Amino acid sequence: MVKSQNGERNIVIELTNDICAINGIGPKTAEILKKSGIYTLRDFFYNLPRDYENFSAPTTIAKMRPGKVVIRGRILSIKSRQARKRRLTITEATIGDDTGSVKAIWFNQSYRVRQLIPEKEYYFAGDFSFKNGRFQLNSPSAAEIADVDIGSGLSPIYVAHGKVKSANFKKLVTKSRALFAEIPDLLPTVPAGTRKDALFNVHFPQSEKMVKAARNYLAYEELFELILASKLNRRENEKLKAASIPFDASKIRDFVASLPFKLTNAQRLAAWEIFQDMEKATPMNRLLQGDVGSGKTVVAALAAYEAFLAKKQVAILAPTAILATQHFENLSKIFRDFGARVALLTGATKDKASLKKSISDGEIDVVVGTHALLTDDTRFSDLSLVVIDEQHRFGVEQRQKLVLKSPDGLAPHLLSMTATPIPRSLQLTVFGDLDVSILNELPKGRQPIETSILKGIEVKEKLYPKIREILASKQQIYWVCKAIDDDPRAETMSVKMRTDKLKSVFPKTKIEFLHGRMKQAEKDDIMARYASGEIEILVSTTVIEVGVDVKNASLMVVENAESYGLAQIHQLRGRVGRGNTKSFCYLLTPDDMAPSMRLRELEKSSDGFHLAEVDLKLRGPGEIYGSLQHGALDLRIASFSDTKLIHRAQSDVDKFLLLDENMLKYKELMSGISKYQQLTTLN
Ligand code: ADP
Ligand code: MG
Repeated sequence: MVKSQNGERNIVIELTNDICAINGIGPKTAEILKKSGIYTLRDFFYNLPRDYENFSAPTTIAKMRPGKVVIRGRILSIKSRQARKRRLTITEATIGDDTGSVKAIWFNQSYRVRQLIPEKEYYFAGDFSFKNGRFQLNSPSAAEIADVDIGSGLSPIYVAHGKVKSANFKKLVTKSRALFAEIPDLLPTVPAGTRKDALFNVHFPQSEKMVKAARNYLAYEELFELILASKLNRRENEKLKAASIPFDASKIRDFVASLPFKLTNAQRLAAWEIFQDMEKATPMNRLLQGDVGSGKTVVAALAAYEAFLAKKQVAILAPTAILATQHFENLSKIFRDFGARVALLTGATKDKASLKKSISDGEIDVVVGTHALLTDDTRFSDLSLVVIDEQHRFGVEQRQKLVLKSPDGLAPHLLSMTATPIPRSLQLTVFGDLDVSILNELPKGRQPIETSILKGIEVKEKLYPKIREILASKQQIYWVCKAIDDDPRAETMSVKMRTDKLKSVFPKTKIEFLHGRMKQAEKDDIMARYASGEIEILVSTTVIEVGVDVKNASLMVVENAESYGLAQIHQLRGRVGRGNTKSFCYLLTPDDMAPSMRLRELEKSSDGFHLAEVDLKLRGPGEIYGSLQHGALDLRIASFSDTKLIHRAQSDVDKFLLLDENMLKYKELMSGISKYQQLTTLN
């Protein structure tokens, strides 16, 4: 129970109460909101506006000029009709003020008929332009006069939740205005302000400055939660016990000498950090970060070899069967002369039961597979090292499951590997429980991949000659498309359409396609034939994104490039240039638009870290860690550029953790961070 600050009135609200406690939310509305994850009062208050409409300084209808306008006017008439084109509803209104009237038009927003009541006055903001033979207001946003702050002219815009549109949510917020005063603080310390003011000010915007300060407050809360979650995870991890794996200098030296290349300094350093971790009796929790092609696999092999020397088992997890197979083949080669028994376990594995028995009997030393390897029915005799390729991290719960796989209650050492660079700010917050090793050096002889942006109309003139050149020199090509199936309405080509098109232009070339909906065996077959050089052009979706290593591929084409995050394109680009030949990447963009500055960064930079920073700034963390998006990392306010705020939060969290009783005292905080603690991309 939470008492109000002054203690006298003793009004209490429980933020964990069901949203039905809010005046105006009946069972139907509650059901809709719950579908969007809004269950409690807390969720309700934290459903922050996604933006604000500025209705300040409205003009009169007579004075409107083409462009963005704001007016204040009455609805004179409004109605919806079905357009001849199927699935298009057109809503038209006439809006009037003392100086005249204007038509407004909306597409597929028939709810406007219910929202906007004839004779009632509203603010409208939208584009005033010449369409269909007249000047009109196109899809203007609308707000009730009472909902717009008189001083600032600001009105919040909320994400629509099904039938609960922005305006409906705004009404609910207005109705619960009095509740805000009762919101207790979440954190013991904050830089400035109170939580109830911050939440009030984002929902009832009185000035841009106050909104900014309020969002800053909430960003701080979020940072505090993330950092607390990661520090607690680190603590939990330190409580676990692991088998100490001794470092065997001379055996490792022989192993390194057997490799067909010299390790880079960065690889040596990373391996050294890993060996030191593995010697400890607490489990390693390390992230090995390195740009595509930086050679992470061999570092993992070194760690695996060390575990093998200590007679321990190793599991290596890859996100796809293709990648698992490739790792299996590489490791089998590397380990051939060292006696380690390596096995592959994927969906396609024939006699799974007998392989699983060998694993549990300890007859296999290194198992490579997809994450299905960690399901309950795979048992190990002595699992001591888990390597996860191209995944970001393990949540607490998954860690605990792994402990159960080991007979002595020991947790395996964990090494995660990723080619997605993690900016410093995220390392301090979201990934704060991990130790990090970085491969910041590519093996010798690699040349930067020449990257160019091309418009669709330039393909024939500029890209086709390049393709001919590549084919003539017996090199191979990847061509990445967005969609699998044909969609006549879409402007971009599907995998199938593009394949047909290329076949018609290059009739003598062996061209095939690959996508995620194909059967595993089929995918594996195509990938194998591409790797062997039989297939010359492979058209595919982003399934080839991670890890696959075909040294002879030297041209990557990414269609629809604007729709991807930079880090993702950088990953795709990393599929070529893995041998010693000069490689190229072409990014295709629409004809009718200048390429974005964002995309231009890819032409200029081959530094994954830099690209990740750009993405983080412009598109938030979800874009970089796409797979995390549907996990817990849908942050309300991604404020990772404010390093001062991050450091402040760090030191406040440290102080918070000094007092164990805090964990009991700050219940809401502790329950809120559990979702971050579970953060994992293994799904
Ligand atoms: P990634 O970090 O993208 O997973 P890989 O481990 O697949 O990179 O390595 C890319 C390629 O570079 C592989 O063919 C690997 O054999 C090779 N390689 C790794 N380390 C070195 C090195 N030190 N010198 C030369 N080639 C190397
Ligand atoms: Mg790799």
